[in-house]
Amino acid sequence: MAAAAADAAVKVAEIRDLTRIERIGAHSHIRGLGLDDTLEPRQTSQGMVGQLQARRAAGVVLEMIKGGKIAGRAILLAGQPGTGKTAIAMAMAQALGTDTPFTTLAGSEIFSLEMSKTEALTQAFRKSIGIRIKEETEIIEGEVVEIQIDRPATGTGAKVGKLIMKTTEMETIYDLGNKMIESLTKEKIQAGDIITIDKATGKITKLGRSFTRARDYDASGPETRFIQCPEGELQKRKEVIHTVSLHEIDVINSRTQGFLALFSGDTGEIKSEVREQINAKVSEWREEGKADIIPGVLFIDEVHMLDIECFSFLNRALENELAPVVIMATNRGITRIRGTHYSSPHGIPLDLLDRTIIISTSPYDERDIRDILKIRCEEEDCEISDDGLLILTRIGMEASLRYAIQLISLAYLVATRRKGTEITVEDIKKVYTLFLDEVRSTAFLKEYQDQFMFHENPEQSKFPL
Ligand code: ATP
Repeated sequence: MAAAAADAAVKVAEIRDLTRIERIGAHSHIRGLGLDDTLEPRQTSQGMVGQLQARRAAGVVLEMIKGGKIAGRAILLAGQPGTGKTAIAMAMAQALGTDTPFTTLAGSEIFSLEMSKTEALTQAFRKSIGIRIKEETEIIEGEVVEIQIDRPATGTGAKVGKLIMKTTEMETIYDLGNKMIESLTKEKIQAGDIITIDKATGKITKLGRSFTRARDYDASGPETRFIQCPEGELQKRKEVIHTVSLHEIDVINSRTQGFLALFSGDTGEIKSEVREQINAKVSEWREEGKADIIPGVLFIDEVHMLDIECFSFLNRALENELAPVVIMATNRGITRIRGTHYSSPHGIPLDLLDRTIIISTSPYDERDIRDILKIRCEEEDCEISDDGLLILTRIGMEASLRYAIQLISLAYLVATRRKGTEITVEDIKKVYTLFLDEVRSTAFLKEYQDQFMFHENPEQSKFPL
């Protein structure tokens, strides 16, 4: 299993590289929490602006995660829409680096037809636990004595053979598979060559040539060849470290197509017996000093979208020895817990809230909004005039920060259309009249509600807002 996991680690690293392709997203300007060495937040740093209290608190949590001191803890980021809860979680992910698993999940994502809610949550939990596997691989360095390649077995085309390397005391014979034969041929390995063989992967590398007393290996020769050449062999031990998530180990060991399921995303439900076996194996590796656990972070945005079953699952799962730190975010006040008729703060049951530490975010002042908009303009490569920024800041204050952020690229498009180089007040006015914010859109609806199809008066509605 360790070899399969190691093999998968390489593949998984490739997948991660793919997902790291940069693009301008809502939070791409965030590079970290912007704290100094004493965990004090700088007003503007690493793309983060203001929200000092929450950033300070997030910094303390981050230090504890980094030190591996907490696992199985729940943290709730609570605050009004657009106050930077997701931004803070993203900043924590950035600060933790790629070595610590960080999984992001929106509450609504677990309602999928492909798997049960608890399975989706279990997978998210296990994606957030990293296993650092230490593998000792032997790199054997020596001089080729003899290469013997047998006739391919009829019909299969597969070749088998033997490679003999001589040490001072003994001769070692290696069975050659198709892959090794291919690499021998590719590297044109002959007797007398100094090579290394990686015992874990079977990779053969030619280092150079010792002496040429031996007859050269000739790929076009008879089926069986013996080439003699005495010399020594050197063995080196090398430690290779792979980091994979528990979920990746689960998938590799539960699907016939192994790690390929990771590419297709077709992981399906994983049997609990498989997970139990893997947990047992991992604790065995830990005892033998072959593996370390890295508790990561599971971020559940819009946590109020989970229902009572999910919350009860979370309560239990947090007690597991292999639980990550769970960071949740919500913009809801006192609201109904999904799946029940009861209301509770943030729509989260009291027993889960009781084991949660809460970080609250507060609304931004004018200066914070201006600075965030300025950073976003830089991030989106949009020049803006001082007056333009002033107007946009006002819009951010009166409509919403998100709406103002959305207007940047739209206004810049208008500016480039008129061959301008920067966003001016006129450009902003134009897009402001073209695209409504939430308040104006609601006012518009109120005025013309009768002319819309399927209009329902909220008082009579079956699904109150
Ligand atoms: P919601 O409750 O609606 O999910 P939220 O609190 O998660 O909102 P974000 O999505 O984090 O809000 O913030 C809205 C936008 O403003 C994002 O693009 C985010 O990156 C940016 N932003 C918010 N706060 C900050 C901040 N303090 N510094 C820099 N950018 C910020």
